[in-house]
Amino acid sequence: MIIIMKPNAAEASIHAVSDYITQNGLAVHLSHGTEVSIIGVVGDKSRLSSDTIAFMKDVDRIVPVTESYKLSNRKFQPSPTTVKVGNTSIGPDSMTIMAGPCAVESEEQLMIIAQSVKASGASILRGGAYKPRTSPYSFQGLEEEGLRYMQNAAKETGLSTICEVVSLEAINSAVKYVDMIQIGARNMQNFILLKEAGRSGLPVLLKRGLCATIDEWLNAAEYIMAEGNPNVVLCERGIRTYETTTRNTLDLSAVPVLKEKTHLPVIVDPSHSTGHYKYVAPMAKAAVAADADGLMIEVHNDPAHALSDGPQSLTCEKFDRLTKDLKPFCELMGRSFL
Ligand code: PEP
Ligand code: MN
Repeated sequence: MIIIMKPNAAEASIHAVSDYITQNGLAVHLSHGTEVSIIGVVGDKSRLSSDTIAFMKDVDRIVPVTESYKLSNRKFQPSPTTVKVGNTSIGPDSMTIMAGPCAVESEEQLMIIAQSVKASGASILRGGAYKPRTSPYSFQGLEEEGLRYMQNAAKETGLSTICEVVSLEAINSAVKYVDMIQIGARNMQNFILLKEAGRSGLPVLLKRGLCATIDEWLNAAEYIMAEGNPNVVLCERGIRTYETTTRNTLDLSAVPVLKEKTHLPVIVDPSHSTGHYKYVAPMAKAAVAADADGLMIEVHNDPAHALSDGPQSLTCEKFDRLTKDLKPFCELMGRSFL
């Protein structure tokens, strides 16, 4: 349930309601609006008396929250969340572009791409050091060595960094080197990993599972947030359908649906969703028009020889063209970029 306080309710009244809830063993999520404060209740609400709360000072009304996700629910917090990542942030007023290779292949490769995407307007460098590949014989990533290259590239360019983690061991390494961790599509319902990501202290990019509904996705975000980590960003990266001309089907309607259901920022990955570099630019523009808060785009200096996902990677030149083309779309949506 959420408890909506009267406009300009006294702090003492808000405290009294919060105390009643915590004294009964439930947790409180407080959202202070400019006039109205909302108290979200997390836990077994059968232990509370709604009548007692309804008669407390400055309580306006009680609204039941039927969804199983609470902390990520927009009813709990109506204003959009901004997530800080290194020296940048992801939120409602800006367009954040994460770009970089699918996999970190060498220090030189990463540095060339990092400098190029930085010059084109990206603010976060992506690069996989742990690659959950479909085949066990495909390149599996440079692991901690790759993370060190990410850190060096960040120092050189001023970019913030993100890297996918696939295990607790990878999380423990990532916290030493990067600014944000990514839970990939294949691990979206790896609940142990979600809890560990929640305890990592780093912001988390949670990609949508290949066959996940939006409600399952938001419940996955809830696992991270329930560990005390409010810094979660959602990434639509396409879902499995019967269509085979694209690698996955980009569900762009997920963006407005999520904006209604959650206060968390939402970004779109047009690379993994389409699987082909030709379709990346049109879907990136469509994502900005759908009001996404950011984009994740794979960029490679030599896609033909990339160790993974070459066909969907933009060259540095194509990425530069795209960011220039995106500028008017961002302006139209009232988002600062570049
Ligand atoms: C990735 O971003 O490197 C990746 C593997 O993406 P996804 O989990 O969306 O397939
Ligand atoms: Mn990839």
